[in-house]
Amino acid sequence: SKYELDFEARFNIPHITDVLPDAVSYPSTFCLKMRTPVSPDFAEGYPSDEEWHGYINNNDRVLLKVIRYSSPTSAGAECIDPDCTWLEQWVHRAGPREKIYFKPEDVKAAIVTCGGLCPGLNDVIRQIVITLEIYGVKKIFGIPFGYRGFSDKSLAEMPLSRKVVQNIHLSGGSLLGVSRGGPSVSDIVDSMEKRGINMLFVLGGNGTHAGANAIHEECNKRRLKVAVVGVPKTIDNDILLMDKTFGFDTAVEEAQRAINSAYIEAHSAYHGIGIVKLMGRSSGFIAMQASLASGQIDICLIPEVPFNLHGPHGVLSHLKYLLETKGSAVVCVAEGAGQDFLEKINAKDASGNIILGDIGVHMQQETKKYFKGIGFPADVKYIDPTYMIRACRANASDGILCTVLGQNAVHGAFAGYSGITVGICNTHYVYFPIPEVIAQPKVVDPNSRMWHRCLTSTGQPDFV
Ligand code: ATP
Ligand code: MG
Repeated sequence: SKYELDFEARFNIPHITDVLPDAVSYPSTFCLKMRTPVSPDFAEGYPSDEEWHGYINNNDRVLLKVIRYSSPTSAGAECIDPDCTWLEQWVHRAGPREKIYFKPEDVKAAIVTCGGLCPGLNDVIRQIVITLEIYGVKKIFGIPFGYRGFSDKSLAEMPLSRKVVQNIHLSGGSLLGVSRGGPSVSDIVDSMEKRGINMLFVLGGNGTHAGANAIHEECNKRRLKVAVVGVPKTIDNDILLMDKTFGFDTAVEEAQRAINSAYIEAHSAYHGIGIVKLMGRSSGFIAMQASLASGQIDICLIPEVPFNLHGPHGVLSHLKYLLETKGSAVVCVAEGAGQDFLEKINAKDASGNIILGDIGVHMQQETKKYFKGIGFPADVKYIDPTYMIRACRANASDGILCTVLGQNAVHGAFAGYSGITVGICNTHYVYFPIPEVIAQPKVVDPNSRMWHRCLTSTGQPDFV
């Protein structure tokens, strides 16, 4: 169908030969030696041991969607094509290619981390450096403090090697530092040209990726042989099409600790109410998953689902009901929820992101006011664990995700792809063209089974 054709074109990943048709390729310097044993019964048609190389073919694809809806009214059904409930959508598989478009001795690679902190940044930096070295790259540098490091003369490039990065994943944060705002795209590309950088690895969120794509386009315009590869960093898990992004698992894990503290405080107080604010500017994934995981949340509030605080069906009257029936209650609220209740601040940060009002503090104040007003005793405690969570080191599952993403970022750059980002999709690792994944934030579907499961576990009613 036309939709499938459009899809194929949309998810084609840009390659340096699109703009530089004469770019030369070389045999890969990344050696794969293993061979999967093939039972004699199935050996027919398989390559011989001599032919076997184990590289990823450029035409390999991963199935993006595998779900079959028998009706468009099923929970979570996305009717992208109204005539079709059976979707097959394919995206490019990540991994090392047999042919590479950069000679390792000619490569000067740079890594930059932008935006806010997220568990796993150091794990990704580490793995990019290690994989570059395995290809034979000698010139590897970190750009300090985000895109700002390209223009700020007081910030020197940080030479990176396996020795430097060996243990950096044992602590949180970013070895290179992060920042918001910074120089224009053409200034960044000027600086890259001057420094001779021909591989750029960009770790960051939506804003950073918009920047990375603009850098890729500027390099194309100047006909530079440069590979720009992103690794999506968003603790909120709000990147389209990806199963999950690194740092999210760790965030949910840590959020549970905050929830547990709030629960203990609430449970130990007379008519105790614990309120926990979690990350999630436009998407409630952390709040939803942490609520599901902890089993200690009575009310989960996310940006995607509107709610009332006041009135007979509001959050506050349900809190009163919970105090009367259970004696205590715990609320988990995502930072982007209930923004309508707050006065617009109309301020933006250095990157141009709107600064949100503080829904956690607002809820704390409104809850206290409400119970005081009706003369009903309530002991309200508020916890905001945001910065404690962001600064954590990655847990085991995020550590593995970061390792694979870091390796694939390097494989993608050597294969000559640029303007791409790496991700995990239906449990397989893939390359996406950047614009497809940053078109809008991924959000919790209020009609999805997962959100319904969350409501079942908290037992909360609709607050509208
Ligand atoms: P986080 O999830 O922490 O918000 P982010 O990548 O979205 O991560 P931002 O502060 O929005 O963080 O942006 C990071 C960097 O990207 C900044 O240096 C900013 O100047 C740059 N940037 C943001 N949007 C664009 C854009 N549209 N074009 C070019 N650069 C951009
Ligand atoms: Mg952002």
